Amino acid sequence: MKIGFIGLGNMGAPMASNLAAAGHDVTGFDVTGVSLANVELATSAAAAATGREVVITMLPDGAILRSVAAEIIPVIAAGCGFVDCSTVDVDSARAVAMDADAAGLLAVDAPVSGGVGGALAGTLTFMAGGSAAAFALAEPLFEIMGQKAVHCGDSGAGQSAKICNNMILGATMIATCEAFALADRLGLDRQKMFDVVSTSSGYSWTMNTYCPAPGVGPKSPADNDYMPGFAAELMLKDLRLSQQAAGSVDADTPMGAAATALYEQFVEEEDGRGRDFSAMLPRFETRKRDA
Ligand code: NAD
Repeated sequence: MKIGFIGLGNMGAPMASNLAAAGHDVTGFDVTGVSLANVELATSAAAAATGREVVITMLPDGAILRSVAAEIIPVIAAGCGFVDCSTVDVDSARAVAMDADAAGLLAVDAPVSGGVGGALAGTLTFMAGGSAAAFALAEPLFEIMGQKAVHCGDSGAGQSAKICNNMILGATMIATCEAFALADRLGLDRQKMFDVVSTSSGYSWTMNTYCPAPGVGPKSPADNDYMPGFAAELMLKDLRLSQQAAGSVDADTPMGAAATALYEQFVEEEDGRGRDFSAMLPRFETRKRDA
């Protein structure tokens, strides 16, 4: 397939490389100069999208997605695909999909989970929103870049699934970290805490797979001085998107709101920026109850 790939950052570059390695003809564009084996670079987003059967975007936020979409939708031929894999607000995803639909394109919002490791290994999970025909066009590409793709519903459904998942993730990480910090103060050994919780009803992905305590459980960013991994500021971005979405549909999300406020404080007032989101554990460790 002739593929255009716009946004060749930490995630986009390995995703584009995997498509090229699988034999697709990939033209890429990024505003910062990058070079990528087997990916021809264009000088603008429109140039990267022209004459392509599917155009994929992997961009930082909804405002940038909207501006890139305005540039590329007019040059993509009717019947071709526009697949946005960025994590953006549901409103931007729906607005861009509407414009793409109006131009006769097959639009999919398909944010991912799995991080940079998953992008490199081609093991991402895609959560997709759009028509059945649009999903069918994109699915073979998801199979190359990932190991699972779920068609969640109409446009915006992929973003909705992503932010709901990450709202759970943020709140669960905080719960796991504060429980470890409490266990420390109660004199409980961390390994014993892991042995019990990981096989009891408090178990979760954050405890069992991505344990925030160094030296405990499978290897995780905690074992690498909390180098991300999944950076606290990216967690904050997704939590803010969840609260924006909750506000737009009047949903009551008190745990999501509390998680957003804590990560905001951690990233903007403390030392969270640039650290893995599991570095909440050393944060709780050093604090007192009313601090
Ligand atoms: P990144 O900042 O590394 O990459 C974004 C790229 O977009 C950059 O290279 C930037 O130069 C480029 N860009 C910005 N404006 C542009 C424009 N107008 N035209 C072309 N290129 C432009 O970010 P990333 O980590 O690759 O994340 C990309 C998206 O994936 C984000 O929405 C993020 O929330 C999401 N995501 C990231 C992770 C992760 O672990 N990094 C995991 C899941 C989802």
